[in-house]
Amino acid sequence: MARYTDSVCRLCRREGIKLFLKGSRCETAKCAIEKRAYPPGQHGQGRKKFSEYGTQLREKQKVKRIYGVLEKQFRNYFFAADRKKGITGENLLQKLELRMDNVVYRMGLASSRSTARQLVGHGHFTVNGKKMDIPSYALGQGDTIALNPNKVKKEPVKNAIENNKGKALPDWLSFDADSKQGIVQALPTREHVTMPIEEQLIVELYSR
Ligand code: SF4
Repeated sequence: MARYTDSVCRLCRREGIKLFLKGSRCETAKCAIEKRAYPPGQHGQGRKKFSEYGTQLREKQKVKRIYGVLEKQFRNYFFAADRKKGITGENLLQKLELRMDNVVYRMGLASSRSTARQLVGHGHFTVNGKKMDIPSYALGQGDTIALNPNKVKKEPVKNAIENNKGKALPDWLSFDADSKQGIVQALPTREHVTMPIEEQLIVELYSR
């Protein structure tokens, strides 16, 4: 599968906000946005004014980058969200939030979504007692995520749990540190998406 391999900090600088793609480094003064809060490249510091299309495109790129989804898959999420009852933009965000890698990250079992994707792909987790190694797997209300007992090497997960101790979970998720099990208690709604996203711009982009 195609994969982005360049510096992820460039992506944050391009979008002009912290996308939190590098785990704990994002919270430190080493964050590239703290040091160079302008787009990468030779003309990065030049004045930028986006057209309407450019603004919509940037919003779509930003959301794709936050969730680590490539173009084709993102487009599929959008059309599935459009077919579903309700507000398309909100349906889209709900679908992205319910991805297995995102839930693992939001539960505090990985330091970033990309680490979560890697851990899921390597079979570190189970869903309702069965091994699940598909990062894009769509979770639903009531699903239980746990550490795979057959995996000996669980250090990255343990470290993430330790580092995230005391951090508040979104209220649609729960996690029990003793049993190391989490549950999707409810479906996420618009208020649960904490990143600054204007999903309406994405709807407008795809409706052109
Ligand atoms: Fe983005 Fe994190 Fe890099 Fe900062 S450290 S630019 S938030 S990926």
